[in-house]
Order: sequence, then C-alpha cells, then structure tokens
Amino acid sequence: MIKGRVHSIETMGLVDGPGIRTVVFMQGCSLKCLYCHNPDTQCMKNNKSKLYTSEEIVKMAKRYEIYYKKSGGGVTFSGGEPLIQSDFLLEVLRELKKQGINTAIDTCGYGNLKNLKEIFEVTDNILLDVKHFDKDMFQIVTGRDMNHYMKFIDHLKDYKGNLWIRHVVVPGFTDTRESMEKLANFILSIPANVAKVEIIPYHKLGIEKYEKLGIEYKLKDIPEMDKNHAKALEKYLISIIDKQKTKKVSLVI
Ligand code: SF4
Repeated sequence: MIKGRVHSIETMGLVDGPGIRTVVFMQGCSLKCLYCHNPDTQCMKNNKSKLYTSEEIVKMAKRYEIYYKKSGGGVTFSGGEPLIQSDFLLEVLRELKKQGINTAIDTCGYGNLKNLKEIFEVTDNILLDVKHFDKDMFQIVTGRDMNHYMKFIDHLKDYKGNLWIRHVVVPGFTDTRESMEKLANFILSIPANVAKVEIIPYHKLGIEKYEKLGIEYKLKDIPEMDKNHAKALEKYLISIIDKQKTKKVSLVI
C-alpha cells in the first residue's frame, strides 16, 4: 500500500474549502514562495512529518463526518504541495469519495502532472493559488519558472468540479487596481468553471518559523497588507470578472 508523507493534520478547518474540513498538510513543495508561512513543509522530509496509509487518513477523517454533513464540508489536502505525492493522493481521494466524503485539494499548480485526469474525477473542489500573472514576477515570487504552472492550467480544461482562485496580495507587488485588472484577465483565461475568487492579504505569521529554521526571511522589510485595502481590491477584481464573464465563469461571492 502506498504511504503519503504528511506534515500535519488539522481538524475543524474553516478556510480551506467549503464547510468544516479536515485539512491534511502534505510534506514537500517545489516552490519557495517569498511569503510562504509554512516553510517547514517545503522539504520532502522533516523530523516531524509522518507516513500515513490512505486507510489511516480515511479512518481519521470519518470521525468528523457529522460535521461535514452539517456544514457541507469534507477533507482538503494542502501542504506543501499535495500533487507532488500524486499516487498517494489519487488513492486517498478515491477512498474518500467511495465513503461519500467531499474532497478538495489546495494546490500551487506546481506538482506532479501524473494521474491528473483521475485526480480531477475524484476532487470536488480545487483551490488554486495564482502566485503571479507575469512570468518574470512568478519567478521572483516562487523561485521557479512559470512553464510548469501553465501546463497545469492547460489541464484544467478537463476539470468539471468547483475551482476557487486565491491570490496573496503583497504591498509593492500586486496591491494596485492595475494589477487586479491583469489578474482578472489571467483568471478569465483559465479553461475551467471558476466558482470563487479570493484575495488574501499578506501577513507575517510564519516569520518565527524562518528564524527557527535558520532561513533568511526576504520580505522582512515589507509591511503586512492592510486588510481593508485587500478587501477593496478583491471587490474590484470580482467586479471586473463579473463584467466580462462568459458562460464559463460563475462567481459565488
Ligand atoms: S506553494 Fe505554498 S507551501 Fe509551497 S512554498 Fe509556496 S506558499 Fe509555501
């Protein structure tokens, strides 16, 4: 049986997909986002991570079934990047669906493309990060080029579930109306049914983890994003998408 390397598991999650969710943070990520607040999930293995079988994850998740049923929740695989361990991910998602549990993956779009079609079939919600819409800035923000990400975007034409888009706004990076216009164009070009768009204000909650890991935090001089400004940008972004929406886009915000 395939085992997945898991960084940690959170129960009663409220922000990683619809309803109340069990959130499984998978270990390993190919990106090194400047603002990552989980830098301890980036390496493929650390002392705290543990191996789980899909059976163990499903058994744990089923303990909270009553909360999923009442709230429309389920289980989300986050990270790190869940699509890196794609064989395990497919197995555990299939098992959860067999049990009638709602599934979600929270992805940066920079994982293993293997099994993607099969994974899409058993994933009710995809929460996709748009790190940046410009390829040079994508490289600066994540440390990797945008080509692999764009391959994932192409594959989304086969996805029939709910796609949520999330974008972290960092002061000096994309905190302008002009950036929102470009982001809107990028979102409108994604070949899938976008169900929700969310702007997340940049914060520094993970900074202590960098100190503990002995890694330099490169954004230390950048202030946290003002939440009201972020909300206003989100409203503006949604208004542009709404105006231009085609049959493919339906916003639920
Ligand atoms: S994709 Fe997520 S986990 Fe990976 S480096 Fe970026 S913020 Fe961190």
